[in-house]
Amino acid sequence: MRAAMATAEVGDDVLDGDPTMAELQERIAALLGVQAALWVPSGSMGNLIALTAHLQRGDAFLAPAGSHVLDAELGTPAWLAGGMPSPLPHDAGPGKISPDAVIRAAGTPGPYYTLRTTLLCLENTHMSSGGVVTEVDEHAALAAAARRSGLKVHLDGARLWHASVALGLPPAALTVGVDTVQVCLSKGLGAPVGSLVAGTAEFVEEARRLRKMLGGGVRQGGVLAAAGLVALDNIDRLAEDHDRAARLAEGLAELGWPVTTPATNIVLLTPADLPSTLRRLAQAKVLAGPIGGRIRFVTHGDLTDADIDAALHRIGPAEADYGPSRRLA
Ligand SMILES: *Cc1c(COP(=O)(O)O)cnc(C)c1O
Repeated sequence: MRAAMATAEVGDDVLDGDPTMAELQERIAALLGVQAALWVPSGSMGNLIALTAHLQRGDAFLAPAGSHVLDAELGTPAWLAGGMPSPLPHDAGPGKISPDAVIRAAGTPGPYYTLRTTLLCLENTHMSSGGVVTEVDEHAALAAAARRSGLKVHLDGARLWHASVALGLPPAALTVGVDTVQVCLSKGLGAPVGSLVAGTAEFVEEARRLRKMLGGGVRQGGVLAAAGLVALDNIDRLAEDHDRAARLAEGLAELGWPVTTPATNIVLLTPADLPSTLRRLAQAKVLAGPIGGRIRFVTHGDLTDADIDAALHRIGPAEADYGPSRRLA
């Protein structure tokens, strides 16, 4: 990846374009089955640009509770994009909302003094629920419900590659019916920086202006886009991360720890006492962090099966934390 960055062909992407940026943007648009895509420095900026384009001040937007746009972007959908967040409870299982809930929450347009709900923000995979995958038919039903209610749809697909690999389907199958989508080249795919926000050519023109306003335009961006092109070669490799997450979850369950069954590369553990289990993991030098009262383990390309086994060995049985007589769910 660093060699590709060093030898990348570049232009000035703020002025009149950069050939490597253009190549990456075209490849991503094709992968996502949309007209056009725009490179942005981070997933958070990609989401913010899409929400800013969709929302007017005085609009409300819907998103499943725990979504990144609600909990992990420092409120920018409200204070920069101008939207009133309206979290939807997971009425269709962990990380999942039902089409009926979307229709109910969208309501019907009221008098001039009422909030207008204009956007549904989906997240696939849903990170804080443990990388839960929304399947194609579930996704299509949600997008259709949003349309029937007059809502636009933005998909936070930071981890869309994981959903695509888990389902064995092309990413474009998971963007049906959306107006805009954001995908990340960092994290699991291994690029140091870079996300893309994508949709119609018209949206991307507007997104380019918004990116400039936010200070996200870069000049010889080809150096960064080259990393992104190499990152795309890592999509299929994510299956190994999913297998290792399953291996970790099985091992932890055997040791008596209550954990989620991962659909992708995230395992959530529900500790009896969060601070003490975090201390125990830190002492064992196993890197995992807290999220919503649980502990999140993420598998990635720098791990081997032996690393998973070593982590399980170091963590050891849950008894010390829960007491031997306690039955675990
Ligand atoms: C990581 C992530 C983002 C944001 O990406 P950054 O590049 O860290 O800003 C957005 N949504 C989800 C679901 C994520 O996991």
